[in-house]
Amino acid sequence: MSIHSLSALLAAIVIAAIGLSVILRDSRRRSFRAFAFLSFVVALWELSSFLGAAFINRVFDLVTIYFAIAIPPATIYFFRCFLSEDPTGPPPRRPALAITVGSALGIAATWYVVFKPIHLPVFLWDLPFGIYIYLGLYSACLEIYRVYSVTISRVEKQRMGYLIVGTLATTTLAFTQFLPTVNVALPTTGNVLTIIFLYFLSQTLFRFRLLDLQELFGKMVVLAALVFFLSLIYGVLVIWVGADQQGMFFFNTLVASFVILILYEPARAFLENGVNRRLFREKHELRQRLEGLRRELAQTIDAPRVVQRLLDSLGESRRVTHASVWLLDRDGARLELAGHFGPRPSAPRVDLAALRPLADRLRATGYVTLEGLQRDHATRVSRSAHNAPPDPELEVLDLLAQALDTMSASACVAMLVEGGELVGCLALRDERLREAYATEELDHLRLLCTQAALVLQNSELYERMKERDRLAAIGEMAAGLAHEIRNPLGAIKGAAQLLLPSASNPGNPDAPTEAPNEFLNVIVEEVNRLNKVVSQFLDYARPYRGDPASLDINQVVRKTAQLLEGQATEGNITLDLQLEEGLPHVNADGEQLRQVFLNLGLNALQAMASAPANGSATPAHRLLLQTRMRRRARRGEPAQFVEVRFHDSGPGIPDAARKNLFIPFFTTKDKGTGLGLPICQRIIQHHGGSIEVKSDPGHGATFTVLLPRETDGEGAATTTAKLVVGPRSARPES
Ligand code: ADP
Repeated sequence: MSIHSLSALLAAIVIAAIGLSVILRDSRRRSFRAFAFLSFVVALWELSSFLGAAFINRVFDLVTIYFAIAIPPATIYFFRCFLSEDPTGPPPRRPALAITVGSALGIAATWYVVFKPIHLPVFLWDLPFGIYIYLGLYSACLEIYRVYSVTISRVEKQRMGYLIVGTLATTTLAFTQFLPTVNVALPTTGNVLTIIFLYFLSQTLFRFRLLDLQELFGKMVVLAALVFFLSLIYGVLVIWVGADQQGMFFFNTLVASFVILILYEPARAFLENGVNRRLFREKHELRQRLEGLRRELAQTIDAPRVVQRLLDSLGESRRVTHASVWLLDRDGARLELAGHFGPRPSAPRVDLAALRPLADRLRATGYVTLEGLQRDHATRVSRSAHNAPPDPELEVLDLLAQALDTMSASACVAMLVEGGELVGCLALRDERLREAYATEELDHLRLLCTQAALVLQNSELYERMKERDRLAAIGEMAAGLAHEIRNPLGAIKGAAQLLLPSASNPGNPDAPTEAPNEFLNVIVEEVNRLNKVVSQFLDYARPYRGDPASLDINQVVRKTAQLLEGQATEGNITLDLQLEEGLPHVNADGEQLRQVFLNLGLNALQAMASAPANGSATPAHRLLLQTRMRRRARRGEPAQFVEVRFHDSGPGIPDAARKNLFIPFFTTKDKGTGLGLPICQRIIQHHGGSIEVKSDPGHGATFTVLLPRETDGEGAATTTAKLVVGPRSARPES
């Protein structure tokens, strides 16, 4: 059997597989179905020509002719579907002329084979079929040319040009075998080219992008050149040996394989580079530029510089008319404009709360393109049944398109760091083009953005470290300043007390006897207050030092209650204790815990005193001190925290104030310092616990201190404490 018929069989199998892979991917798209139909026709044509050669049977010859006749209309129809962008529109025209001429030729061929009225020379028999097939296939190229001629954009025109050249070259070479006279000269190249061309068309279909044709065409050229180059090596070695020397043939095949293995990679790289440089200069340049930029970014730590370099580089590439960098703000709620090239985007920020799908999509796919969204939209609309409820995904697609519009972009590339965390995004647009960026280019941009994201994240960490150092330095200075204030305060108070008359100052025999000067009292009072503020400030600013020991929390609460009792009785307030017995110990500094409890208790008493009960004789206000284990959300799990609750019946805390309770110097009292609660929070956080606040304004407030129960061994307790420490653990809750 000839190598030609064998190659036809192999081509039939591969082409059928390509067609099948397309139809399996999506049988609902019109262009997919048309492509699969074309592949099956070509595969059946290849198969019947193999069977015709194998069994030398007229029926197979006739069947081969039928399939060959079907190829041109199938090709024309496929290109019409492929080039008509709108999947929702009406189906493209059927190639009526090709079908009519083809049917006439089919009937003539059948009549000739069945009745054999006259004997025709082979070339006369082949000629009309050859003319029909070539004209049919070239008219498919004409279809592309028609789109080409109405395309205005230069770049898009160039892309269409590649498609025309590819189709022309493949069809010319692929069907040479149909003509027996040329058959001898090019035995198998036609089949190989047909396979390569159909394969790349199928890849183009999968990517849905006309733009990628250019890229794919380049790959096709490389692959075809490689196939010829490798067959040349085999061919030369086989011819050199001759067909009858079996041993030598084996040896030479080995040598050829070896040579091919060595040369494959460099040859591929060389060809690819050459093709990229010559055919796709713009793209080659962009890639080189992006790679250069990636190397440059590796040595940068300055965020504004990263943003500027990104934008400059994209501007210099002349592949964008609009480019902007957007960075996620600290709360992760908004994307803020960090810099732009070209016209300024319409809004300086994108609210992610309203455009949640943008962040989700960027995290999941790495980029979003406007054309991709439009295609997705059109496909969903075309798929949805007539009376079906609207697809919710359509709303998401609209939102995404809206976000791109706000950013003046047609493509948005995510800046992701490891773990999929979004740092920001790069938004691009070339208003001169539709689908301005090929998939491969978007992949390159994504790599670049990943690197930029890493630099930006490192830069933020670095900035935070610098800020922390600065704050630490300011803290030290402030503590020094507080000391400086305290000394003269002592002197002022002493002097004022000396001036007070003896009646109000019995310890001082030298005190004047005239009426007390009320201004002197004000001085002493204010000095006391200042002294308290400065002492508390020093407490807050000083590095935390504690002396933890195993403690029974109930004992600390009882001692605190004793200290509060006097003031409670004075204010006609009932002090209730509800202490759960047998609570596990906590590992804590007893002195500091007492300071916290005292502060919470005094705050409650003061709050209740400020809103006296309605004049009845029985005490209407009540402060409840309660200890118990923290109930777990899930039943059966052992409780890890001991809680101490201070529940008062005072005026409660308004919502606006509740947010600020733990901010230093926030106070609503005339003589308050606003440092009590921040100090309490700091102490409790250092114990691995947290403070929760609940309040129903007008009906009292509840402060709950949570402390981790002591685990077996002190070391373990400390570890737990360290792990739990964090800003979130002490956030007040409503
Ligand atoms: P200060 O007591 O010096 O004002 P704190 O930090 O201890 O400072 O308290 C801050 C503010 O929290 C108080 O001024 C008060 O408005 C509010 N607050 C604290 N505890 C209560 C409570 N039990 N009821 C109502 N308001 C409270």
